[in-house]
Amino acid sequence: MSHSATGPQPTDADRSAAEPGQVDAGARGRVDGGVPGPGVDAPLFSARLRPDLDEALEAFAARGRLLVGLDFDGVLAPIVVDPTTSRMLPASADAVARLSALPDVEVVLVSGRDAEDLAALAGLPTGSRVVGSHGAQWGRVVTTPGGGAGLESDGVELSESQAGLKAELLRETEALADGVDGAWVHAKPAAVVLHTRPADPAAAEALTERVLAGPAARDGVHVLVGKQVVEMAVLEVTKGDAMVQLRQSLDVDAALYIGDDTTDEDAFVVLDATAHDLTIKVGEGPTAAAYRVTDPDEASAVLLRLVELLEASRSPAGHEQDSRSSPEV
Ligand SMILES: [Mg+2]
Repeated sequence: MSHSATGPQPTDADRSAAEPGQVDAGARGRVDGGVPGPGVDAPLFSARLRPDLDEALEAFAARGRLLVGLDFDGVLAPIVVDPTTSRMLPASADAVARLSALPDVEVVLVSGRDAEDLAALAGLPTGSRVVGSHGAQWGRVVTTPGGGAGLESDGVELSESQAGLKAELLRETEALADGVDGAWVHAKPAAVVLHTRPADPAAAEALTERVLAGPAARDGVHVLVGKQVVEMAVLEVTKGDAMVQLRQSLDVDAALYIGDDTTDEDAFVVLDATAHDLTIKVGEGPTAAAYRVTDPDEASAVLLRLVELLEASRSPAGHEQDSRSSPEV
């Protein structure tokens, strides 16, 4: 991902040819005091951060093992009309790749999206941790045989009773949907989903009512009703549950979470500012986060500032420094 720190110093032409995320060791020294790095199109970042947020970032960066939890839509990637076309801002992709390469920094995307879809479209470095479906799906980004990005799923741990409940939901929902043209049932790792989109509207409505009154009404089932979709989950997890679990399993000293939506509030409230945890809301609206930035461009600025602070004090993982390393590294 990065050039060896011991190789010949890259020329300016090499630097300008670098793709976002391919930041060479020589360029690191240049990215200081608000000079965007290669592929960075955000305005000068340090000048855009409020002094109190900058101080909080410094305090966070001074802790030992760090967890950086990031929502995707509305934080790393601007919201777009067609969610299948979402992409990280180049500056954020650059920052995420560089943070991921640092020792004792764990970067995790925590999204409501399906984890596999997210892994495929997010443009994350291989090995990145992804938590999808608001905490119900866990995995890591892998390179697929075709050269794209896929997910190596950690699987979902259901208790015996949850697994039994899911099997019952599947059986009952399939029985109800059977014979309704265009209706189909889909089993997710921790949920059963009824789809009625292609069905006749009256038949779809009648089937939906039967499912809501039947399997969906069972104890322990968490129901989400969407447009021509009924999702029945046997696990109720939140982004907050995910952050608590990540914090414990990764044994970190401090955690940062950046999010833009109401479901991100669950993550904000479980973090602890007195332990130098840092919470940042993107955009308007009430929030439990300690800090706020206006948009994904400013979220990029925060991440680049964190990169700057951490690269000044830590070496990228897997790159032993030697006497020929640049002195500022
Ligand atoms: Mg979001």
